[in-house]
Amino acid sequence: MSETRSDIYAAAGIHPNGFDPESPESTDEIVEILLRPRVIAVGETGLDSYRERVPAKMQIKGFREHIRLAEAFGLTLIVHSRNAEKEVLHVLGDDVTIPVIMHCYTGPDNIARKAVDRGCYIGFAGPLTFRKNSRLRDLAGSLPADRILIETDSPYLSPEPVRGKRNEPSHVKYTAGILSKIWDRNLEDTSEILLNNSLKVLQLAHPRRTDLVYRMYGNIYMNITGRCTNSCMFCIKDRTDGIGGYYLKHHGEPDGKQLESIIELLRPGMGNELVFCGYGEPTMRPELLRRLAGRASEKGFPVRLNTNGTCLERLSLEETTELLEPFDSVSVSLNASSKEKYNNICRPAEGTAWDSMLKFIELAGKAASVKLTAVSYPGLDMESVAELAARLSLPFRVRS
Ligand code: SF4
Repeated sequence: MSETRSDIYAAAGIHPNGFDPESPESTDEIVEILLRPRVIAVGETGLDSYRERVPAKMQIKGFREHIRLAEAFGLTLIVHSRNAEKEVLHVLGDDVTIPVIMHCYTGPDNIARKAVDRGCYIGFAGPLTFRKNSRLRDLAGSLPADRILIETDSPYLSPEPVRGKRNEPSHVKYTAGILSKIWDRNLEDTSEILLNNSLKVLQLAHPRRTDLVYRMYGNIYMNITGRCTNSCMFCIKDRTDGIGGYYLKHHGEPDGKQLESIIELLRPGMGNELVFCGYGEPTMRPELLRRLAGRASEKGFPVRLNTNGTCLERLSLEETTELLEPFDSVSVSLNASSKEKYNNICRPAEGTAWDSMLKFIELAGKAASVKLTAVSYPGLDMESVAELAARLSLPFRVRS
């Protein structure tokens, strides 16, 4: 392979024989994990009629619930199917909006082809190497190379020549070796194709999937935009892709409907507060922000806005007052002690941003509890910023 990747990523899901679609706790349990860093897929999920410990109808309900989660969070879906490939495809339908992996595939050829036609990827594990499994090797050879993945299914299904032993990730090389023979390519080219396929289906290739919601400091953060009218000297958004293992950079603005679906899956108790922020300035999308915050507040979340406080540059007093309605608290990045210093450090689009921010702070104080913050930055006189916050009689916090 041309590059090595040290990051380890995770998927979250409950096996078809373990998920209880009648219990909201089952969904909540998965959502709690999806809020963690580097969780990039939902699964395994699907249908299992080989060991039907949960009746088929209930399994289908559970599978649909996993699909709902994957679609809301924009995550890849990893599908388990045993003796139920046709039904799996039926439940997936024709218009799945997320990448799908048919995990550890050993099912019928025609279903694999239909799945590929619908954009799914087919994952082959140890069975591809089993001596008597020429049918599966023929299938792999007949599918488009850019739709094939290999995997281990550890600790099960060890490939030849370690069949029967406990499986482990390093054994995937044997499956890759067989595939390189099927494709008549050398191992390096085969590995390159497989790596690219994996990065693509898991949405790790450019443009990467953005984490729209994440948990940090005990709160849930909602990342609703990548736009901002400031260009602060300390801003990380053009220097890094995210923080704390979350990928927060946007490639285009996130879909409002998707953000609404995520809110429906969140429950108070999953975090202390629901904080609206951005890898940018959340008030750049005022209508969406108000709608999302309103729904979160209705659901019982304490709701906070993290803002640079310059929205009065773009919104009227009435619009800003309405925007603030659902919020319990507002955190404003003050970052300077005077207009001149603010313009030097935060480099706003308009020279009036400082005055707008001070007006906003006053307005926000009538609707919610307001806190001021400043980012510790070389050359910034933090004492005078703290003094200004004290003159405004507002709590102040230094951010690193
Ligand atoms: S206000 Fe925030 S998002 Fe905008 S440039 Fe400054 S630090 Fe970056």
